[in-house]
Amino acid sequence: SNHSSSPPSEDDEKFFYGLFPPGIEEDSCLSRYQSFLYHRSSYYKPSSHLQSKLRKYEKLHRACGPNTKSYRNALNKLKSNQVNQTSKCNYIVWMPANGLGNRMVSMVSSFLYALLTNRILLVDFGRDMRDLFCEPFPKSSWLLPSHFPLKREFGNDKVRHSHSVGSLMKKAANAGMETIPPYLFLNLNHGGDDEDRIFYCDKTQDHLQNIPWLLLLSDQYFVPSFFLLPSFEEEVKKLFPEKETVFYHLGHYIFNPSNHIWGLITRFYEAYLAGADQRIGLQVRVFNPKSTPRQTVLDQILACGKKEELLPQIDTQISAARPTQNGTSKAILVTSLYPEFYENIKNMYWTNPTLTGEAVGVYQPSHEAYQHFGDNMHNMKAWAEIYLLSLSNVLVTSAWSTFGYVAQGLGGLKPWFLYKTNDQHIPDPPCGRDISREPCFHFPLTFDCNSKAKVDAGTLVPYIRHCQDLPWGVKLV
Ligand code: GDP
Repeated sequence: SNHSSSPPSEDDEKFFYGLFPPGIEEDSCLSRYQSFLYHRSSYYKPSSHLQSKLRKYEKLHRACGPNTKSYRNALNKLKSNQVNQTSKCNYIVWMPANGLGNRMVSMVSSFLYALLTNRILLVDFGRDMRDLFCEPFPKSSWLLPSHFPLKREFGNDKVRHSHSVGSLMKKAANAGMETIPPYLFLNLNHGGDDEDRIFYCDKTQDHLQNIPWLLLLSDQYFVPSFFLLPSFEEEVKKLFPEKETVFYHLGHYIFNPSNHIWGLITRFYEAYLAGADQRIGLQVRVFNPKSTPRQTVLDQILACGKKEELLPQIDTQISAARPTQNGTSKAILVTSLYPEFYENIKNMYWTNPTLTGEAVGVYQPSHEAYQHFGDNMHNMKAWAEIYLLSLSNVLVTSAWSTFGYVAQGLGGLKPWFLYKTNDQHIPDPPCGRDISREPCFHFPLTFDCNSKAKVDAGTLVPYIRHCQDLPWGVKLV
């Protein structure tokens, strides 16, 4: 049971306390059965309601997934112009937009939507996400088959707009809805149409219920919206009595590193991080590399490390070896597109002793220089680094960055975040402490669904508050 007082058995741990189904071949996805070893220090148990919801979902996915008769029937509906009978197999197709962090936060949101609406989640991984994750659902696949008929329409803004939820709701308001269309696009990415955000309203959800195919383009963590929608609110609260653990549970459930990535993660971890008494993750994202001086960011990191006592302080008076070392060690994992931060920090701890005498190791797995698009290996490194960050005891992230959000969500960690800078000035204070383990939703609904009056989504309920790294965003606390 969920809150039993007996100590966890190895089997409980192995299945992440009921998050994972039994019966999957272990060799096909080693991370699923080994990850508990690395996450022992901070784990949350899934509610029993979430466990049974996932088992039900897995069954439905098996019945409706690719290569089933139901799937073929549903495809046939796409060819017709309207849908005249409802089916138990309805789908949400996730499409990639933006970087890996953005993609992962929107995938978790899409999966929660699938759970809440009994839809099947299918994902279009294109060329550059193929080798990142294990198949999450037993005896089936979540990959959108390559011959999916609407693939070409995905990229066409005009088609996406004419078949969007915004235009559907306009039609419904003017003429009423006589027919149910076979598919609809949800344009929910950050530059998307404002009118499509009507998706986050109950009335819209009524209309979407019987549409067999929803095609979603989003780079956002829209999970908090479901806690504000009357039709989903009760269910999400039951699934997640601890509201701060939505990403933690659903993220661990759908994002199990593939065997190849698990090799990258565990080899790095064992070689550089496992032996340290404390692991400090430092994610340095520079959004405007041309206008942001690296020195400012470095000074900001050091100022934050000192003020919040996160980084060991150095002794600049004595450069000779100390007579006694205290025998403890810290490992600092730096992730960044650039090498400078790592090099400077490493050099600082090499050329100076620490005040406490502890040893400090500084490591950076890769420095890719810029964000590559359409590059599988680039995403593999990014995913391995996100996962390694999630294994920190102390995490420092960069404001606004979904890359950092995924690390914090999977780690179940409340990070310190470096405020955004893009000039000579170090922000004061240099960093803040996050109020929750959850990612931030950058573009919540700004109007009331019924009255259309302006509302502030961060003031409606006590468990959804403004993000501190990005004040117009909101997050679960
Ligand atoms: P965001 O833009 O910070 O919200 O994060 P995204 O993950 O959506 O996009 C940034 C992309 O740049 C990542 O997916 C990577 O491809 C790349 N990137 C940024 N920072 C790092 C890093 O520290 N390590 C690696 N390997 N890639 C990074």
